[in-house]
Amino acid sequence: MDQKFNGILLQHNSDKTRLINILWDIQRQYGYISQEAVAQLSEALNMSPMDISETISFYHFYRTKPFGEHAIYLCDSAIGRMNGYQAVRDALEQEAATSFGSVSADARFGLADTNCIGLSDQEPAMMVGDVVFTKLTPGKVSTIMAELKAGKAPEDIANPQGHDSSTLAYVETIVETGIRNEGSVLFKAGRDYKALLQSGLGQHPDEIIDEVTVSNVRGRGGAGFPAGLKWRLGREAEGAEKYIICNADEGEPGTFKDRVLLTRSPKDVLLGMIYGGYAIESRFGIIYLRAEYWYLKDYLERQIQDFRDEGLLGADILGSGFDFDIRIQMGAGAYICGDETSLIESCEGKRGTPRIKPPYPIQAGYLGMPTIVNNVETYACISRIIEEGGRWFANIGTEDSTGTRLLSVSGDCEHPGIYEIEWGITLNEVLELVGAKKPMAVQISGPSGECVSVAKDGDREICYSDLSCNGSFMIFDESRDLLDIVKQFMHFFVEESCGICTPCRAGGVDMLTKIERVIEGRACQQDLDECVEWGALMRATSRCGLGTTAAKPILTTLDKFPELYEEKLSEAKHSLLASFDLEQAIGEYDLSFKTLVEEARK
Ligand code: SF4
Repeated sequence: MDQKFNGILLQHNSDKTRLINILWDIQRQYGYISQEAVAQLSEALNMSPMDISETISFYHFYRTKPFGEHAIYLCDSAIGRMNGYQAVRDALEQEAATSFGSVSADARFGLADTNCIGLSDQEPAMMVGDVVFTKLTPGKVSTIMAELKAGKAPEDIANPQGHDSSTLAYVETIVETGIRNEGSVLFKAGRDYKALLQSGLGQHPDEIIDEVTVSNVRGRGGAGFPAGLKWRLGREAEGAEKYIICNADEGEPGTFKDRVLLTRSPKDVLLGMIYGGYAIESRFGIIYLRAEYWYLKDYLERQIQDFRDEGLLGADILGSGFDFDIRIQMGAGAYICGDETSLIESCEGKRGTPRIKPPYPIQAGYLGMPTIVNNVETYACISRIIEEGGRWFANIGTEDSTGTRLLSVSGDCEHPGIYEIEWGITLNEVLELVGAKKPMAVQISGPSGECVSVAKDGDREICYSDLSCNGSFMIFDESRDLLDIVKQFMHFFVEESCGICTPCRAGGVDMLTKIERVIEGRACQQDLDECVEWGALMRATSRCGLGTTAAKPILTTLDKFPELYEEKLSEAKHSLLASFDLEQAIGEYDLSFKTLVEEARK
């Protein structure tokens, strides 16, 4: 074990619950995590090599082999494919002189695809190490690659002015923030956080929870659980310690609102977390930040340190006797870690496999202790609720959907970006606001949400009781091949399923095969009927939200755009069993026959 390796272990106290961080540090030091490193870790952390290897293999961004001096991950998403993904991919292969999934002969570049990296308003986009590059074109790729070949570091290419990585200037040089309108709740400039916290801590924890309850704010991550009730349960739960977690793992394709909140209003989020800690008597907070947002890490660390320096975090906050501090936990690339129990497993240094519930995190969460997990936007809203009062918030929006909602708008419109809308706005009103010219369909809440028809659903309201929305709002106009987009979404779920439940593991693959058959004109009605059956089975028997929603890209388009499927089925109506490909079968038969003959001749 060399000195650097030892240093990494020392820095993390050889604590196996910090395995995700340890693995990151090893990879960043050595370029990949070798078998030798696994063996050394096994000894130092008293874990089996298999335990460590299974954790490594679970996450997209860990590598067990060298992957070039510059590991390049190109975002492969439906929106990227609408904006020139393929041309950019070709340009990368040409410039790097290697193909995707491989490393160049000179070991300088490794190329890989990855799922949505939270930049749907600026695609095509890629990560080169920790640095992201947006709005790519083949020409831009040539320039970036030429500079990399000349020995320039990715951060120097993306940030030619040399801004410090802990500054807003750095973050906004790399990624355009993209706030498109002014709303009534979020992104308020010039807030006096010290005065706000002083006033909050002057109240009893029950009063804080009462305000959150009166506001009727619901969790902004997607499930919409009432935050006040969650905090009340957290206060009443018993445990030697309690934890506050901020879920900043927005992996739902098409969502990027948390990226923007963490850029423009990080202290709103910190303040909301501190109120949460005070309300339930917790001393520790964790921000679980997706690895795709690594470029935000130094900046967020700086915000946390600012709060510590001002006495707003740490021991005896503002002389109140309340201790609370926050650390950042990086993810390592796994959509499923957006699920709160998977996220907790990941925070504990393990594979992000969802837990069976109950117990719920509020009873036994991080390290088995009562834990509140809320989304970035929820904490930011709560920081405003404590400032303005629960009634103020409850008077915005609709009765069951109070306050505002951040929409991450992407796809076919003139002004993609972040919009703060009041719940209750109609689909048509949003489309007009963002400049969508000939919209045909909107994918609300990402692939796990609903594909709606603008013609049929334009007057529906965005709210929990009608069109619930987790923030992702992808627009597709009449020129788009919707079935191909459905295929991409199904492929996404197949890749991201953790595989522990059979219906999710097998159903996703079978449904992907079926949508491919539909597209190729080889499907029959039975295929679609089986998709519906799979959907019901997966909804009823899957352990987590991924499995319960993974059939929705097919089911919701089948519901709203049945004609797209009917057209494809009609192509196969003369076939007895359309899914049977005679030519391919003969080809396979020929091959096996030839093999037999060759074997016999030997
Ligand atoms: Fe894993 Fe899918 Fe089961 Fe969720 S539903 S636990 S992703 S296999």
